[in-house]
Order: sequence, then structure tokens, then C-alpha cells
Amino acid sequence: MNLTSKIFIAMAAGIAIGVAGNSLNLVSESSSAAGFIENGLFYGLFDAVGRIFIASLKLLVVPMVFVSLVCGTASLGGGGRMGLMAGKTIGLYLITTAIAITIALTLALIIEPGVSEQLTMDTSYQATKPPPLKEVFIDIFPSNPVRAMAEGSMLQVIVFAVLFGLGISRAGDRGAKVSESFNNFNQVIMEMVMILMQLAPYGVFCLLAKIFYSTGFNLIGQLFLYFSTVLLALFIHAIFVYGSLLKLLTGLNPLTFLKRVRPVMMFGFSTASSNATMPITLETLEKKMGVDNSIASFTVPLGATLNMDGTAIMQGVATVFIAQTYQIDIGVVGYLTVILTATLASIGTAAVPGVGLITLALVLQQVGLPVEGIALIIGVDRLLDMVRTAVNVTGDSVVSCIVAKGEGALDLDVFENPPR
Ligand code: ASP
Repeated sequence: MNLTSKIFIAMAAGIAIGVAGNSLNLVSESSSAAGFIENGLFYGLFDAVGRIFIASLKLLVVPMVFVSLVCGTASLGGGGRMGLMAGKTIGLYLITTAIAITIALTLALIIEPGVSEQLTMDTSYQATKPPPLKEVFIDIFPSNPVRAMAEGSMLQVIVFAVLFGLGISRAGDRGAKVSESFNNFNQVIMEMVMILMQLAPYGVFCLLAKIFYSTGFNLIGQLFLYFSTVLLALFIHAIFVYGSLLKLLTGLNPLTFLKRVRPVMMFGFSTASSNATMPITLETLEKKMGVDNSIASFTVPLGATLNMDGTAIMQGVATVFIAQTYQIDIGVVGYLTVILTATLASIGTAAVPGVGLITLALVLQQVGLPVEGIALIIGVDRLLDMVRTAVNVTGDSVVSCIVAKGEGALDLDVFENPPR
């Protein structure tokens, strides 16, 4: 059995066991067996293994992004080509996000998930103040590369790595030597990713068992319409929008793409973090889809940090939902503002679980909707976070393929027949 099928089975088993445990409602039972299952198994063993798995993935992110991006920039050489590629990438990331949010708003306005629902607020929710956009921009530029790496500030690491790579490409023979060492390092890190991939079925099983045990499906009940609208928009975007973009802009077969991208989606779903998924995204794009390192090393970390189509979709549906429940009409200008701010907000969303809700506050504020409305949807957000993260990482992969194809840096042989 190949690894993807093993991970898939592990996912299904994890979800089944988690949901079964949750519906037995062990929480209210006081017998010692129930206590053991809850504290020893779900919140004990499964929680520990799942967290160790995520930590090991995250462990690779900074070294991998740095080393791989230095190699990529150094091999691209001159700043002009880099600039053009960066421009295309950012442009595509913005366009796909704007399309995503437009689909979300349209669907939500048609389905009207917030009309006539009896809702309860989660009173423990406290709105967090999002940082001003100006600060977000200034924060891209590092003053201390070591701190940037220590804190995992991805955009700062990217800026430093690009500068470093450009330095290498201009430093002649000496630069070539440094570049060779970086290429060797890169190989070593890729092998580390392979080791982790082998352990993934266990990690994924434990993560999902614990999450579904603690969340269950009960909360979906009264938020069913909201939940399904977000899911439907995510589905349409992932299948139709990405499929047509791929077909139109690259001529690649969307079904083959979907097949190749599956492990990336599964990791995104299980970890609910584009950041933790990054090692797998990079590895899959380079090894299974034939995207050259010079492109993927730039587009993937940038996408994981900036491009969050799934998150934008949730924010679009949530805005309409909250406007409808509070019976506030924000008008056409309001919705256009939502498109703009949700695109920007999804860029400002850090690639970790659940942050999309925090930047949703920014969107709501911009159009004068009550930020406390977030308390209405928080109950189902953990589950939606998993699905939208799978879409976020798929979007990064689509754009990487489009940019690579345009730059003549996509190996069609690998895309069609990847090595096992
Ligand atoms: N979990 C998402 C991601 O990492 C961000 C979010 O929507 O909260 O891609």
C-alpha cells in the first residue's frame, strides 16, 4: 500500500474513533474506565503523539524555507527574473483570493444562512484587536535575521533568504561554493522530510482522534446552514476555480493535479496549519509535480504565509451570516469593502490554526458589523479550519504550478509519471 493510502486510512480511522468516543459521551461518565479512555488515551497518548508530530513538522519549516529559498534565488541569478516571478506570484495569489471571497459572498447572499436561525452566543469569546495594516507591512522587513528565524517570522525569513541568495549569485566563484553547500544541505533536509512522511499515518491518526473526540459534530446542529455554505464555497473554489485556472493557464490536467496534491491536502486538513504543512507542500511540488526548486522555494513559503483562499471564504460567509443574524444591511459598498479587506486580511492571517477568526474581526470592523458576532460561529470553527486549510495549501500548489509552467520550470515528465 502506498503512503497516501496509509495516511488516508489513518485519517478515516482517527475521525471514526474520535467521533465514537465523543458520542459515547465519556466526559459525563465517572467510571474509572471512562476516565482512562479520556485522560489516558484521547487527552493523554493521542494528544501527546499528535503534538509531537506537529512539532516535528514545524521544526523543519524555518531551516527548510531558508536553505531551499537561498538555493532557489541563487540559481535564478539576477534580480530582474526574480522580481518578475515574484510579481506574477503575488498577483495570482491576490486574484485567486478575490475570486474566493466573491464566490463566498454570492453563495451566502443566495443561501442566507443567518436568516431565521435561533442562535446562542459563546460568552467566553473575547475579540482580539488585529494589528494595523501599516505595522503588518513594516514587519515584513527584518532587523535581525536570527530573531526572525527564532520567532519563525516567515516573511522576514523570506526577505533575508532572497537577499542572501542574490548575494551568492553575484559573488562569482566564492558564491558558487557557498551555493553548492546550500544545495547539499537542501538534500539533507529533504531526506528529513521523507523520514517524517513515513511517520505521518500515526501522527495524523492521533491528531484527528483527539480533535474529533473533543469537538464532535453536535455543535454543527444549529449552525448547519453556515457550515454547509462555507463547505460548498470551499468545494466550488477548490474544484472548479482551481481546475479551470490550471487548465486555462497551463494546459495541465486538473484531475492529475488533484491526484498529486492529495497528500498536501491531507496534511493541511490534519494539522489545520499551512505552516506545518509547508515541508510536505514543497516536497510534493518538487518531487511529484516537477516544479523546479527555484520557483517552489519562493512560491510555497510565500503562499503559506500570504495566500489563504479558504480563510477568505470563511470570512466572506461569516460576514454575511453575522450581518443577517444582526439584521444589518451593509449594502453593495459594504460587500465591496468586504472583498477588499478580506483579501488583505487573509494575507495578514498567520498560517497557524484558528487565526482566520482573529482577522475576521478586522473585516467586520471595516464594515461596521459587531465583532462579538464571531462568538456565534466559533463553535464550528475548528472543523472548518481543517477544511479551509486544505484549500489554502491547494491554492499555493496551483499558483506554484502556474508560475512554474510560465517560467518553463515545470518538468512535465515528472508531473505525468512521478517517481514512486
Ligand atoms: N489555519 C489556517 C491556515 O493555516 C489559517 C486560518 O484560516 O485560521 O492556513
